[in-house]
Amino acid sequence: MRRVYLDNNATTPVLPAVLEAMQAYFAEHFGNASSIHHHGQETRAAVERARQSVAALLGCRASEVVFTSGGTEGDNLAIFGLVRSGPVQRGTARAGDHVISSTIEHHAVLSSCKQLESSGCEVTYVPVDGQGRVDPDDVRRALRPNTRLITIMMANNETGVLQPVEEIGKVAAQADVYFHTDAVQVAGKVPIDVKRLGCDLLSISGHKMNAPQGVGALYVRKGTILRPMLYGGSHERSRRAGTENVPGIVALGRAAELAREVFAHGDLERMAGLRDRMEQTILDEVDATGVNGAGSLRVPNTSSIYFDGIEGEALVIALDLKGLAVSTGAACSSGAIEPSHVLTAMGLSPERARGSLRFSLGKQNTAEDVEFALALVPSTVARLRELSPIYNKQAVSR
Ligand code: PLP
Repeated sequence: MRRVYLDNNATTPVLPAVLEAMQAYFAEHFGNASSIHHHGQETRAAVERARQSVAALLGCRASEVVFTSGGTEGDNLAIFGLVRSGPVQRGTARAGDHVISSTIEHHAVLSSCKQLESSGCEVTYVPVDGQGRVDPDDVRRALRPNTRLITIMMANNETGVLQPVEEIGKVAAQADVYFHTDAVQVAGKVPIDVKRLGCDLLSISGHKMNAPQGVGALYVRKGTILRPMLYGGSHERSRRAGTENVPGIVALGRAAELAREVFAHGDLERMAGLRDRMEQTILDEVDATGVNGAGSLRVPNTSSIYFDGIEGEALVIALDLKGLAVSTGAACSSGAIEPSHVLTAMGLSPERARGSLRFSLGKQNTAEDVEFALALVPSTVARLRELSPIYNKQAVSR
């Protein structure tokens, strides 16, 4: 059976050139990068080359790149590294610290903020408008004398909506508050320049940009003192203890190089063209549907579409049975399907949020893949709606 994967915001396949680059670092060049002998020197050089490549992708110095195990660790290190710093009681936030975040963050940030709240720190979650955008003026208004950190994502994982991070960076700089942005869904899709963004910390994840799962990086602006989360050796300039994941780091470095080539060759325009064609055809062929965040700037690969009268999970399963992999933003909690916090924050009703699907393209997707999706989605939605008494009742009154 033909299978088409349009869930690249969940994870991406490792590109052949990335796999080739990392393969030599399992058995051939296996040294511990901290060893002083030949084997260690070889892997140390590979780690430092990868650091240069990641730095070139982000527009920073190599010494400002800290390798992590992925986006979740980068987000946690940024948040707990700063907010817990200072004269803290062991394991708790310094009472009185204030953090500004948003209602649409990934759980890697939201759950970290909840954890801070449970240990005495106050967090303000700024809202988004109907198009999924944070207003930088809301961030400015949320500032307090004790605000320690602003953590607001660069692009949302469900809608792909790009946030006005450059403006937020200016707000942070004027107030002299640290600014972290989760750029996990941006790296490899839109060029990043940390200097232009004005952020102090920025996290990326390998497996969202064609490197493997379990590796990532955090940009830490020179001079930012982070309290580490892991204690051990003095790896990563004492910011992240633990023997380096050399094959993963080499892969991330290679993926960063390839991402820059993609920007140079205009391949992202091709991806945006495929995404736009897919969206427009679905909107033309299916009633009672729309694109979440369509009025905002978005990363070129992501499309979040609501289908009224449909349970998103049922549609995901029906499409999967026919070979198409997409996803919902819903989370399953204690057996019940919770609507996506991102879509409800944008003002969607719980029903409309539950009836939303995320299509996310990757570098490997072709025009034929989009045709395959278009051959399935309208007919599958129509079949599920035929079975939906609620939709049919509403249709009579439409
Ligand atoms: N931040 C965002 C916006 C994400 O989309 C994800 C993964 O879905 C993460 C953080 C977590 O990254 P990782 O899976 O590398 O821990």
